[in-house]
Amino acid sequence: MDNPLRYAAVNCWERYDSAQDQAAMDILGAEFLDFLTHCKTERETVAWVMRHALERGFSQEFSQAQVVRSFRSKAVLLARRGTESLRTGLRLIAAHADTPHLDLKQHPLHEECRVALMKTHYYGGIKKYQWLARPLAVHGVVVLMNGEVRTVCLGESDDDPVLTIMDILPHLSSKQRDETVEKAFIAEKLNVVVGHSPSSTTTTDPVAQRVLEILHATYGIIEEDLYSAELQIVPAGRARYVGLDRSLLGGYGQDDRLCVFAAYTAFMQAAPGSQTQVLLLWDREEVGSEGATGAKSRFMVDTLTDLIEAWEPHCAVRHVLARTKAISADVHAPMDPDYQDVHDKHNAALLGFGPVFSKFTGHRGKVGASEADAEYVAWFRRVLAQKKIPWQMAGMGKVDEGGGGTVAKDMAVYGMEIIDFGPGVLSMHSPFEISSKADLYATVQAYQAFYQSQE
Ligand SMILES: [Zn+2]
Repeated sequence: MDNPLRYAAVNCWERYDSAQDQAAMDILGAEFLDFLTHCKTERETVAWVMRHALERGFSQEFSQAQVVRSFRSKAVLLARRGTESLRTGLRLIAAHADTPHLDLKQHPLHEECRVALMKTHYYGGIKKYQWLARPLAVHGVVVLMNGEVRTVCLGESDDDPVLTIMDILPHLSSKQRDETVEKAFIAEKLNVVVGHSPSSTTTTDPVAQRVLEILHATYGIIEEDLYSAELQIVPAGRARYVGLDRSLLGGYGQDDRLCVFAAYTAFMQAAPGSQTQVLLLWDREEVGSEGATGAKSRFMVDTLTDLIEAWEPHCAVRHVLARTKAISADVHAPMDPDYQDVHDKHNAALLGFGPVFSKFTGHRGKVGASEADAEYVAWFRRVLAQKKIPWQMAGMGKVDEGGGGTVAKDMAVYGMEIIDFGPGVLSMHSPFEISSKADLYATVQAYQAFYQSQE
């Protein structure tokens, strides 16, 4: 019998076991895998959101009630006007559209041992060995001197070639085996193989020359154009179901496109609420949220200022933000079945038990963290309880084991109430991250309930 004094997390598979929920869960999972397959960079994610929002009648004119604005193709804000004044604050969900990957270096192309290679510089927290000896694709843009933008997406369709980074064979790895992981896999060896056949036009680096000839024929670019390029090396191939029961969702970039997709879906499903609903997608979270499109930038405040000017001219943005309730929608690290020792099992989340609240992030004595107020957590519990949505409260890993940060602290400075709240992801930051179909479903329900919540 249930013990009313003890808290017990609810399993999403049991909560949503009706045929109707199961069918909706399957549709959502398939849509997500498709989204994940096609959106592998922040630019592709923002373009996807822009395209879908415009198709649904969102306007770039702020005089309208449903608006969207992107910035530098890497950050985007959507808003739907509420029935109450902006003075009562917003219902804001923020997620990040960037993902750990390999960027091509400024001067990437070179030739060694009759193989053409491109040098890379990694972006965000990766385990370097996970990127070796696997099919890779290149996504991004090259901008010509005349301003023309050439879009690149190579390695995804069945008849495309792929790229790869080589690894040393086990027979000659005795030295490597004795090294620490940090020393065995070094960044300067993360060179992508791009060609092997020689050009007949030169005897100096003829293989690299051949690659340049193909780039020129395909995209109309020359080597100098690679300076004005944003080309990202990402894992090639589709996102897939994992498990005989197709219950898990596997693919690259789920941190944080799982939350991007869940928040976007919830935002679009939500009916207009009393408060204005906002969805905000940032770039550069994985490298500290710096720059023009990161959470430390002016994009949010400036865009909201324009929105206020159009909707309620005499309202101050600081008052709107200070009354705002927000979610930092970022993924959480649940208990890894094979590495349970790095978690405090009394404070760890489990896959399949719904989105996870993280009251604070940071490391070593909560350094670098913002922390959600007790009042806000209580309010949130009420919102979720009303809809019987499963959720978990957890910390990430054992104290002093490591840690992480999110955009929550950068947004908390405006005085808004904000908490990290998102589904669990296993193998986080790897080329093939894993999430639960049931958690995705519960997360969309939770975000939608948040958007439609009353005071
Ligand atoms: Zn993240």
